[in-house]
Amino acid sequence: MSDREDQFLLTGAVVLTCDDKDTRINDGAVMVDGDEIADLGPAEEIEEKYPRLHRENLEGKLLMPGLVNTHIHCRMSIIRGLAEDLSLREWLQETYRFRQSYLDEETQKMGVELSLTESLKAGVTTIADMSFHQFLYSPITQKSGIRAVLYDAIMDVYEDTPRKDEMMEFLEDSHPDHIIPGAALHAPYSTTPELLEWFQETIVEGTDVPYSIHLAEIRREIEECQEEYGMTTTEWLEDVGFLSPRLLAVHGIWLEDSDLELLRENEVKISHNPQSNMKLGAGVAPVMKMIKHGLTVGLGTDGAASNNDLDLFAEADTAGKLQKVHHKDPERLTARKLIRMLTIEGARALNLEDQIGSIEVGKQADLITIDLRQPHLLPLYNIYSQLVYSVRGSDVRDTWIEGREIMRERDLRTIDEDCLLDRISRANHRINAQRKKEKDAIKAENI
Ligand SMILES: [Zn+2]
Repeated sequence: MSDREDQFLLTGAVVLTCDDKDTRINDGAVMVDGDEIADLGPAEEIEEKYPRLHRENLEGKLLMPGLVNTHIHCRMSIIRGLAEDLSLREWLQETYRFRQSYLDEETQKMGVELSLTESLKAGVTTIADMSFHQFLYSPITQKSGIRAVLYDAIMDVYEDTPRKDEMMEFLEDSHPDHIIPGAALHAPYSTTPELLEWFQETIVEGTDVPYSIHLAEIRREIEECQEEYGMTTTEWLEDVGFLSPRLLAVHGIWLEDSDLELLRENEVKISHNPQSNMKLGAGVAPVMKMIKHGLTVGLGTDGAASNNDLDLFAEADTAGKLQKVHHKDPERLTARKLIRMLTIEGARALNLEDQIGSIEVGKQADLITIDLRQPHLLPLYNIYSQLVYSVRGSDVRDTWIEGREIMRERDLRTIDEDCLLDRISRANHRINAQRKKEKDAIKAENI
């Protein structure tokens, strides 16, 4: 046996690489060296080549790249199921009011840890999280071991003072390799022209960090922009030089063909979040047109408060079915394409395709296994449709990120799950008691 614990073989699995040729090895093995994938091929060949290395036997399992969730709000899990059946604007107001009244900093941190736990247990190895006050949450994300682009968000319509200094400090802080600091302008409707200009000059021009925005999520956003400036929000952003290959635009539901063309010219990436869009009644994103225009589209769950879970496999299932029903055409958005959107296209949406998104030599060892021997996963004729339409996040068994074991047989190594769930339950009881007290007080006043 080799003395080095960070060199090992994962062997005997069906290996789905998601490389350019969608290579699949039925009885395959992957050699991990430190944080990288150092070799892969048929199990027999790889085992013979590295006889002294420790072997993990993955027989009966599928080994694939970890999933990339291109849009999430980690701290929102603490208000899962709170504001239901509301329009986006009402939902924003209600969740904002609730956060101000009932959630202290510690409780919001618990929400972040809950999201990370749920994500890791569902096979997600990279997240792109958009949150205010990222400096508060990044230590928790860092400890979980998940790879993360952390967009620190800013706005100045619903908030009096945009936290520019806080954002700049967060961007300038040092972060470990798996944490990538970024910036976000919340949305065109929550931004004044002054803040947009500041962001363009300071972040887009002045740094090379990734950045993000919710774009064209509601029709009113476009209508108001047309009334005010005589152009769509995409044109408004383009006009000030906001669009670039480092921009991840989230949703993109109400985009004109000319908007799509502008986004393509500027190599802007898209995050598609169908379940949140459906639940908020926002609309159906023109995903087929986006792909036709040559745009890179990844999948995202959005926050658990508008989804209401963080299962990215379920998101692929919904994305496929939504395009099929919308176009009344079953050939739209194939299962194979959807698996690429969960992995390599998601990586590309975050400009991380050289590091993650596929099982290839030299890439980071961000890997997951799925137990294929289950009643809802047999028989197996087409691995892609099985993954999209039959697999659930809870079928994921093991996870490695940067070659580090994060989950073994559903047991998380970086988060004390039992302790976290107890803390969440206690916070939940406290909030419910507080809400009841306030409701009773209002009732008493009205008597
Ligand atoms: Zn969002």
